[in-house]
Amino acid sequence: MRECDFAIIGGGPGGISAAIKAARAGVEVTLLDENEQPGGQVFRQLEQGFKVADPDALGPDFQEGQALLHEFNSMQDKIRYSNNTLVWGIFNDRSLALARNGTSSRLRFKHLLVATGAYDRPVPFPGWTLPGVFTAGGAQKLVKSEHVLPGQNILLAGTGPLQLVLADQILKAGGKIEAVLEAGSFAGNWLQALKGIWGNWDFLTEGRGYLRSIKSKGVPFLQNHIILEARGDGQVEEALIAKADKKWRPIPRTARSVEVDAICLGYGLVPSTELTMLAECEHHYDLKQGGFVPQRGDNMETSVSGIYAVGDGAGVAGKKVAILEGFIAGLSAAHSLGCLSNEAARERIKPYQKRLNKINRFRKILDDISVPRKGLYELATDDTIVCRCEEITLKQLKSAVADETIQIKDFKRMTRMGMGPCAGRMCGPAVIEMLRHRLKVRVEDLGYLNPRPSIKPVALGVLAAHDTTSTGSENR
Ligand SMILES: Cc1cc2nc3c(=O)[nH]c(=O)nc-3n(C[C@H](O)[C@H](O)[C@H](O)COP(=O)(O)OP(=O)(O)OC[C@H]3O[C@@H](n4cnc5c(N)ncnc54)[C@H](O)[C@@H]3O)c2cc1C
Repeated sequence: MRECDFAIIGGGPGGISAAIKAARAGVEVTLLDENEQPGGQVFRQLEQGFKVADPDALGPDFQEGQALLHEFNSMQDKIRYSNNTLVWGIFNDRSLALARNGTSSRLRFKHLLVATGAYDRPVPFPGWTLPGVFTAGGAQKLVKSEHVLPGQNILLAGTGPLQLVLADQILKAGGKIEAVLEAGSFAGNWLQALKGIWGNWDFLTEGRGYLRSIKSKGVPFLQNHIILEARGDGQVEEALIAKADKKWRPIPRTARSVEVDAICLGYGLVPSTELTMLAECEHHYDLKQGGFVPQRGDNMETSVSGIYAVGDGAGVAGKKVAILEGFIAGLSAAHSLGCLSNEAARERIKPYQKRLNKINRFRKILDDISVPRKGLYELATDDTIVCRCEEITLKQLKSAVADETIQIKDFKRMTRMGMGPCAGRMCGPAVIEMLRHRLKVRVEDLGYLNPRPSIKPVALGVLAAHDTTSTGSENR
């Protein structure tokens, strides 16, 4: 079995930053990512063969990412980058299971960084399975990578800054937006807000820039508004929207319908924790960070020695946090592997830690506005499909709730919820919130859907074509 000193899973801002710092300190690094090119979600690059004619049109994220990617690409002699490589399992002999180019292989590591990012938070409501309803991330990929608009007249519903980013991208691509609904509101504890904003002006400027762009095109930005239902005959034709109270419940007699042919839902992100869970790292539930997240020390190490976690996969906090955490984890791993002295590691980590603390004050304000509220999980009606893979309705799920001692894994056994190809990524986060409110129990008592290898679908032929000699991968 092939071996490496420091394996990194995920080529987004978190993984790339860690790879750069560790490799510069002299660590032998292998970075694995399921995509063709590095960049992750936010620094996603264009498909091979496409060229950027106008970098301004792709926004500040693209340009910020170019510098990081340039540094990463210039270190090919020091970082082994294995693209198109899905990590589908972790085993307790400290090895990873990989799938690439139709074969599977294993890679043993001394130290490991999990930087697997996050995915869109699904929220079931009547009509959410109709064609024309997108997650914000899915719509963003269409616009950014495929240059295709999700519809002719689009409604954005959700919360948080990513909606504004998507709205800006749709408008720049020539799309028409009916309205942007923000379930939360910026009004609230202003003293607290000022404390967080202090010293974080770049975030404020970025957010205001997006808002200005939306308003200049005459798109209504409606705070305290939610979507109740998507309607249409085989395709979205209209959306029912309403004003929402503090718990994001619809305020009676405020509902109205708007004619749209596409709806993009952006209720935040859920950390991809399948691999840290498989590695038996301890996790706790923090909805403000997206759900279950691994416990970590200041050096980003989890409860399992030599396994680190950074970025959105360890708590949703955005690209700037992912980069800083990546720097810290890369330097910490270099220190543990004997490539940096105590003092050198401490000195190099300190400024990143300081910046991280400052950003986290700002994050807290956004988290307070955007943390999903109870009302969101009351929108589904009895015949709403909650588990899309197994087509299980809310009524079927309700009938399986025996008592408040039920655990989510029992629920899975009884209903088949979470047993489809998405392995619970789509229904799991919503069902946890629904059960928590319904049974009035702590999420820790409900537990989580135990991930099993393979964490994402892998063809049987790939498992059968097992390569025992290598990672089955080459640099690019
Ligand atoms: C859909 C979506 C859209 C977003 N849009 C924006 C935006 O427009 N602007 C903005 O500022 N922020 C955006 N964000 C947030 C931003 O992308 C993140 O904050 C940032 O990218 C976090 O960096 P990361 O390194 O933690 O994860 P990511 O950038 O998500 O990178 C994780 C990488 O790991 C790979 N990976 C995951 N699991 C495996 C596996 N098992 N095997 C191999 N590879 C794996 C993924 O494919 C990905 O390349 C978006 C997030 C999402 C999920």
